[in-house]
Amino acid sequence: MSTINVTIWNEYLHEIRNPKVAEVYPDGIHRAIARGIASEAFEIRTATLAEPEHGLTGDVLRQTDVLIWWGHMAHDRVEDEIVDRVYMRVLEGMGLIVLHSGHCAKIFNRLMGTRTCQLKWREADEKERLWVVDPAHPIAEGIGEYIELPTEEMYGEHFNVPAPDELVFVSWFEGGEVFRSGLTYRRGKGKVFYFRPGHETYPTYYHPDILRVISNAVRWAKPAETANPTYGHAPELLEPVGKNR
Ligand code: ZN
Repeated sequence: MSTINVTIWNEYLHEIRNPKVAEVYPDGIHRAIARGIASEAFEIRTATLAEPEHGLTGDVLRQTDVLIWWGHMAHDRVEDEIVDRVYMRVLEGMGLIVLHSGHCAKIFNRLMGTRTCQLKWREADEKERLWVVDPAHPIAEGIGEYIELPTEEMYGEHFNVPAPDELVFVSWFEGGEVFRSGLTYRRGKGKVFYFRPGHETYPTYYHPDILRVISNAVRWAKPAETANPTYGHAPELLEPVGKNR
């Protein structure tokens, strides 16, 4: 089996500015995920907002099979040129896994077409139970009927995204709300997975089931080895028709 090249992108600001977050993720969320999903099957690199071109140069993206995205407070600081570049790579077949507050990232909004991708939220140390609603889906492989997180931020419906191609998880929160927390989309040749959990003050990205879902999603989202579609004017006939008969 060939290696999957994974790039984990993190804005990497909360961990530097907020001691409470630094305590949970001393080396940053990106490195915690990188260690958590490490496998012989993956070649993993990380990239952050502060790097030139946010660490997402044309070369890096060309070499990336699956990009993982975590951002929250600095969505506006992601350059439009880089967003365009990521967008084009997704259409060409690069997988994209958008985590938690990435629902407001420019790249996710562009791919969804619903602009804000808004939802309800509350920070109240609530229990979250993510129910597997598609047990045949490869992203849910190895997961029981549900994943339970003792404390998380609440996200509630309505989540303003298009109806997904597949719904893999639905979350229940102690305070009463529910949320579609694992969604898949296809855009061009690319596969997109949105996965809800992962507020920066909770140790969610150390939970073995959460890491398992992210690993499964990387395998699911890797580029398909299919022909690139052609678009536009198609003057060449595959069969003779009409006056060319
Ligand atoms: Zn959050």
